[in-house]
Amino acid sequence: MSDDDFLRVADVSKWYGDEQVLEDVSFEMDRGDVTVLIGPSGSGKSTMLRCVNRLAEAQEGSILLDGEEVLSPDLDVDDLRREVGMVFQGFNLFAHLSARGNVALGPRRVLGLSDADAGERAEEQLDRVGLADQLDSYPAELSGGQKQRVGIARALAMEPKLMLFDEPTSALDPELIGEVLEVMHGLVDEGMTMLVVTHEMSFAREVADEVVFLDEGRVVERGPPDQLFERPDEERTGRFLERIA
Ligand code: ADP
Ligand code: MG
Repeated sequence: MSDDDFLRVADVSKWYGDEQVLEDVSFEMDRGDVTVLIGPSGSGKSTMLRCVNRLAEAQEGSILLDGEEVLSPDLDVDDLRREVGMVFQGFNLFAHLSARGNVALGPRRVLGLSDADAGERAEEQLDRVGLADQLDSYPAELSGGQKQRVGIARALAMEPKLMLFDEPTSALDPELIGEVLEVMHGLVDEGMTMLVVTHEMSFAREVADEVVFLDEGRVVERGPPDQLFERPDEERTGRFLERIA
């Protein structure tokens, strides 16, 4: 159990129809923590992330974010999504909007900023991810790594208190992965609280406070990266790590 439990996931279970995809998943994060979720394809990693911002509905358990019950039927889901940024594997940018337009959209539509203020905020955030020179570029003109950095800037523009990353580098050519990880490293240095699904084990090793290994919807094992990677308690963890090494 951690000190301030900024995010406290407790016994979360979820079914799609008859199929149970999460079973009593529990973990906690302090403010400023980086937690990396790993596990085989289909183990429930994306579903777990999506339950945190209510893109998926967990049927059982509790998710407390900063003391508020995310799973409460009374929760304002729009408020929640304002506070929890998400970065997707597939970028999900609007093709008809420039980088600036993509990043300004949330601040304008959701936060109610004026066009000028939203544009200014977009420029700041694009600068933060190293894209100050691509403000007017459209997604089709950007590399995969640049598109993903726009995706990160878009999430940051809402000034979230928690960032969720779902395999942010999995769709990228190997030579473009580094620039995205570099931006993520920068956020870690700034103290951002981050829950990250990734197969980039070197990233996990360097920045994770805790690694959570999910298999078949269950937490098999969790712990600090050096322990989990070097001396896993569970045979299943070892076998998974060998497969992806
Ligand atoms: P991971 O991200 O670890 O690959 P997912 O969370 O995407 O795993 O999926 C976990 C399980 O839930 C899989 O069996 C998947 O087929 C199922 N699943 C995910 N999303 C849906 C959905 N929208 N409807 C039905 N089943 C789903
Ligand atoms: Mg997934």
